Amino acid sequence: MKNYDLLVDRIAKSANLEREEIERKVEAKKAKLSGLISKEGAAQIIAAELGINFEDEDLKIAELIGGLRKVNVVGKIMNIFPVREFEKNDRKGKVANFILADDSGSTRVVLWDVNHIVLIENKEIEVGDVVEIRNGSTRDSEIHLSSFGELKKSEVVMDEVKNAPAVSEVSLDEVRQGMNVRARGVVVQVFQPRFYSVCPTCNKKVVKSAVGDEKGKEEYRCAEHGVVEKVDRAILNFVLDDGTESMRVVMFSDQIKQLIPEEDLKDEMKAAAFRDDFLGTEIYLSGRINRNQLFNNLEIVANNIERVDVEKLIVELDDKK
Ligand SMILES: [Zn+2]
Repeated sequence: MKNYDLLVDRIAKSANLEREEIERKVEAKKAKLSGLISKEGAAQIIAAELGINFEDEDLKIAELIGGLRKVNVVGKIMNIFPVREFEKNDRKGKVANFILADDSGSTRVVLWDVNHIVLIENKEIEVGDVVEIRNGSTRDSEIHLSSFGELKKSEVVMDEVKNAPAVSEVSLDEVRQGMNVRARGVVVQVFQPRFYSVCPTCNKKVVKSAVGDEKGKEEYRCAEHGVVEKVDRAILNFVLDDGTESMRVVMFSDQIKQLIPEEDLKDEMKAAAFRDDFLGTEIYLSGRINRNQLFNNLEIVANNIERVDVEKLIVELDDKK
């Protein structure tokens, strides 16, 4: 089920109303606001208008959408990241992150309060523990916990958890920042590949600088490894259309290699032939929804691309008979 459907179900249950009625209210609210908000956003407003908050109930991780307050979740800690320190406006702070899973999916939990972070630092809360989170808020599908929140070990026993991001099979007009999605659509535009130079040892970006006064002579410098023989990596952008929306997709080396040897993109003829061939292809794409800071729009950062192979689909269907 999609996040939106789960949310509508929950509102209907809490308000003791029919699902259809909630959906009608959502549509009416959306229309009233000239479609400026998403269905999820409208559903949240309806929930608030009906006096529903999610305070007294535990939500499933797959139900989390951005902008919720007073969220309660119970889950098992799958992974804890090192506590990071940061400085902001001359103030030092700490932030901790872990991955929490339940039987519906997993998400990242971000701790901002020292009283919670110390539980991680002192290993009072460890990987494998089931914990209870009260009074969290969500940003995208992540849970953020401030000093108003609560984090403690739970008595709940959780054997079966789904330690994969709650991947939503969504239509592109419903995606939100931070979601992990799988979509099926057609490639409607393919841009020229772009290249950037990295250090062959650490794969980090290198900086180009002129050597002395000699014209045209340049060297590439890695912050860690000094002057290096740079390696060129490709970035490929294309636009995917699933019938509801078209969205820009970004592919880096690892994903490009699933389609074409990266070297071939440096050859103008081969690159052009690839673009011609890729254009109009139907694909399955999984990736993460990201906000492009430059254009301030949503895009998909690809992590897996497969061509929809119609003949293969037919063979698979035949095999199942
Ligand atoms: Zn390096």
